[in-house]
Amino acid sequence: MTSLGTEQKAKLLEIGEIFIPREIDMPCFASRSTAGPDAGSSAHAFEFNGTRVKIAVTKNPDARLKLARSNGDFQISLDGEVFIAHARVLHLIAHAPNQAFMNLASECIMGCAFCAMSYPTSKPVVSMEPERLMKIISISSRHPSFEAVAITSGIPVSVKETTVAMIEMVKQIRVQYPEIPIGVEPYIEDLEDIQRFKDAGANEMKINIETWPPALFARICPNRDRDMILAALEESVKIFGKGKVMSNFIIGLGESEEELYEGLAALSKMGVVPNVRGIRLGPLNREKLEKALGKAPAKVPAEKLIEIGKKHREILEMNDLDTATFSTMCFTCKCCDLIPMVDL
Ligand code: SF4
Repeated sequence: MTSLGTEQKAKLLEIGEIFIPREIDMPCFASRSTAGPDAGSSAHAFEFNGTRVKIAVTKNPDARLKLARSNGDFQISLDGEVFIAHARVLHLIAHAPNQAFMNLASECIMGCAFCAMSYPTSKPVVSMEPERLMKIISISSRHPSFEAVAITSGIPVSVKETTVAMIEMVKQIRVQYPEIPIGVEPYIEDLEDIQRFKDAGANEMKINIETWPPALFARICPNRDRDMILAALEESVKIFGKGKVMSNFIIGLGESEEELYEGLAALSKMGVVPNVRGIRLGPLNREKLEKALGKAPAKVPAEKLIEIGKKHREILEMNDLDTATFSTMCFTCKCCDLIPMVDL
């Protein structure tokens, strides 16, 4: 049985955008992310019926989802009918409601088709200087729901340069915040960097496989090394521990059901918790995906997200894994995906 909140969340994730009329006075600013599924758009997070979701804000007044206010409550309508009667708007600390999740560089040379980051156009620069990042953490840490820090990064020049910058950043954060959980989401090309992240003070690792079938991976991530990603995940489990390593796993790119479940089972057997995410299409990735796949992928329907989510949970349980073992990144934020053990 699926709860009402989960069904509603799945529908919101399927549609992926909401119109907020100008006259609605929002209690907080929208967040504008440079990484993650809503990259490039403004987005708001909402909590309702025991769950939460973050979705992009559209300027299209004919959007299927619309926000309204009624008797002081926020209401979300779907195709003109009230869909969620009572929603709370969540304050986003820095990208996420519970943590400062920051992107060191918002340009990337890797050219993955699903990703909204652009290729560096001019002389590439690291877009977030360490001083600015430390200031954001300091401001975020005053918020009552602040629980963690996480760092991701595009790769504006080279993997090596980005890795060094990320490790240095983790060291600085750890010195100033000895107790705070720190999550990192790097691209690894040298397995020894995993221990360097751990020694710097990182607690959790996210290395993204993105899609399971090797041929599909080669089309979607033409400049990344699938074997290295798998080796890095395996090494990360040894260093960070089972249930402290996660991996984004996008669905809806053309993988078969057999490939999808084979991938979820293989990662889980390694001690990695896959983070299943329906493909999101937007102005910054549509063309790239069309080019890589020959056509734009379809949105993953809500019912499919729920069906896959339930099997995902079973696969995790079979391998003694639980999303609750994490203290940073997406399983604690819970905004962009159906989270096993939380939503299903
Ligand atoms: S679920 Fe992950 S990608 Fe989505 S807002 Fe939260 S931290 Fe960012």
